[in-house]
Amino acid sequence: MRVRPLFCSVLALVACRSEASKNPEPAKAPIPSAVATEVVANMDRAADPCGDFYRYACGGWLDATPLPADETRYGRFHVLRDRNNETLREILETAAADASATGDRAKLGRFWRSCNDEPAIESRGLAPLQPVLAEIDTVDDPAGLLAAAGSLQRRGVRVLFDLDVEPDYKRPEINIAYLGQGGLALPDREFYLGTAPRFAELREGYRAHVARMLELSGMPAGEASQRAADVLAFETALAKASMPREELRDPEQRYHKIDRAKLEQTSALPWARWFAAAGRPDLEELSLTPPQYFEALPGILAQTKPETMRAYLRWHAVHAAAAHLPSAFVQEDFAYFGKALRGQQKIAPRWKRCVESADRALGELLGRDFVARRFGGQSREIALSMIREIEQSFAAGLPSLEWMDAPTREQALGKMHAIVNKIGYPEKWRDYAPLAIGDDHLANVAAAASFEFDRRAREIGKAVDQSEWFMTPPTVNAYYNPSGNEMVFPAGILQPPFFASDWPMAMNFGGIGMVMGHELTHGFDDQGRKFDGEGTLREWWAPAVAERFEDRAECVDQLYSGYEVQPGVKLSGKLTLGENIADLGGIKQAHRAFRSWAEEHGLDPRSEALDGLTHEQLFFVSFGQIWCTTATPETERVMALTDSHSHPRYRVNGPLANFREFGEAFACDAGEPMRPTDMCEVW
Ligand SMILES: [Zn+2]
Repeated sequence: MRVRPLFCSVLALVACRSEASKNPEPAKAPIPSAVATEVVANMDRAADPCGDFYRYACGGWLDATPLPADETRYGRFHVLRDRNNETLREILETAAADASATGDRAKLGRFWRSCNDEPAIESRGLAPLQPVLAEIDTVDDPAGLLAAAGSLQRRGVRVLFDLDVEPDYKRPEINIAYLGQGGLALPDREFYLGTAPRFAELREGYRAHVARMLELSGMPAGEASQRAADVLAFETALAKASMPREELRDPEQRYHKIDRAKLEQTSALPWARWFAAAGRPDLEELSLTPPQYFEALPGILAQTKPETMRAYLRWHAVHAAAAHLPSAFVQEDFAYFGKALRGQQKIAPRWKRCVESADRALGELLGRDFVARRFGGQSREIALSMIREIEQSFAAGLPSLEWMDAPTREQALGKMHAIVNKIGYPEKWRDYAPLAIGDDHLANVAAAASFEFDRRAREIGKAVDQSEWFMTPPTVNAYYNPSGNEMVFPAGILQPPFFASDWPMAMNFGGIGMVMGHELTHGFDDQGRKFDGEGTLREWWAPAVAERFEDRAECVDQLYSGYEVQPGVKLSGKLTLGENIADLGGIKQAHRAFRSWAEEHGLDPRSEALDGLTHEQLFFVSFGQIWCTTATPETERVMALTDSHSHPRYRVNGPLANFREFGEAFACDAGEPMRPTDMCEVW
């Protein structure tokens, strides 16, 4: 491998030796027969790869995989998530069965036992929430509302607005507080404001659901019904003051730094009450995302009756706790947010819900054991060497991008070299010592939320901790963080179908290689490009080059805006722009990296890999197959409004139809759907 020397220089020698002896000629290694069988079974060989490649790569899988009744969306990501969750379940069950466990291990065990102890949860009823409801009952003006909001947010209840702690976009070595618009229980402002009949229907269902939840919380039926209508009206006012999601993607819109005096001018509210309740009365600086929301807030609150404020807070407190309360709450919550809104037919079994709660509450404790069980051998080494290949591929492609000029190209290269790569798991694990876990499940969940809120709040004004991770190790996902200029790949995604150390490299490059190229390109998408290599939001592009970038981005916007996900529902080209640019660039870089790897290893990419597919075709099929996904129509409609990622079909067909080498690999004729005459190209 070209990068081996570089890579050996930073790792223990033993790693190099073991790699060399175990895997001397990876290009010639036979493809495990079970892998070959699975790849072929997932395909639909009768479909035309030049007509609909997604169908060609995924047809077999789609036909053989009905959507599980307890899912809203199910794809090969979720198959892997399930496998990871099985491992987490084993870890938790083992810890729970170990009576002699102490410290962290005992915490995992207690969390698991309390979450699964349904009789205890039933018998406690709403008692664990009573102190919170009692505090809410004292609210009778905006000052009380702000104080209660701060204390609810500390428990993980998302009311009125959100507090985020992120690096200062203009000074990325220091964390600051970002107050962001929020406080809505429905997935997007459009659900409150949309005029289509389906929105009106969902709103009516929502109002009825809020009424039933208020009633379950002890409010008389007639009052609950009236208050639910008030809550809907109040949230609708918040939705009107909110900026549409697409506009909020622009980092310039997300960053408006002000001091306390200016905050009180912009948003005339008794803010001191909120700062005190959130545990940071000393905060002097923060950023508003966006200011217009906070400008509107005093006017909205001035017109809101105290009983509406109390009902709004009560609804959100019960809503946030519902999954951890007795079954009447769990079922009612599922009936609306699972079934009506997303088309889910059956609630997930208790164990799955408890694994997810445990991952949220104690993610880096569970993650340590997960890594020990599931992330070993040469995984980290191979992943690192692949990242190097992808980076070299990005660098190699820069000279051929005619729309760039030499100085901007040089700076882009500098930014790429400065990217920090994190693979598998954090070097420094989070210390959960201060978090107390007892026998009361809801109390555990609230304690974990407060622990996390306080931990983050303490970071405001402090130097950014470069070692911090924002996903837990078992997560099937990856991210690029522009302020840290870093790419992060948790152990959870460095697994099949993305990656396996004994797989043909065509599959690894089509799988995790594409994910790496995607994350790298995020550093240069319409958002990422606005940050420099140090993570500072600043203009480092020549104006003419920036303009040409915007023209190319517009091509991508137009293309994806034409894709229909459900009858009458199209993707938002603006909401999904960054992800689509990353997909288009990612496939190209992964492909170039694969080609160069093959050349170095004397592998002809056009030689047969399996069942009549060349290695290069296998690369594209593997890429297509990571996206095989089914979903309910309801979920696809929700996601078209809320998800910044495109529908899986278009995450496959969009990038491939805009990549010349794909059309060549499958001998598509110019003008066929997967080889159009006009293509979009950014990176
Ligand atoms: Zn992405």
